[in-house]
Amino acid sequence: MWIDRDPERFWSKVEKLPSGCWIWHGTIMPSNGAAMYNVTSRRLVKAHRIAWEETRGPLPEGARLLRTCKTQRCISPEHRLVLVPKDYE
Ligand SMILES: [Zn+2]
Repeated sequence: MWIDRDPERFWSKVEKLPSGCWIWHGTIMPSNGAAMYNVTSRRLVKAHRIAWEETRGPLPEGARLLRTCKTQRCISPEHRLVLVPKDYE
């Protein structure tokens, strides 16, 4: 997993709201608004994928996660639909 060495650092950037949204307070890509986690100084990983895998286990090969709520910074696994390649190819 991405954050085995320091899970507290990852979760310290997540604010869980009563609405169910998990707001990301880490890096946001200026180009597309994607929530990103700096695994190392040179490696960025999508924060919603880490949140999913840390709470639910590994994602299937090629899976994409589609946000189902309207909160741009939300990374909650509850608010994601998993698409596997057969769904989008
Ligand atoms: Zn949400």
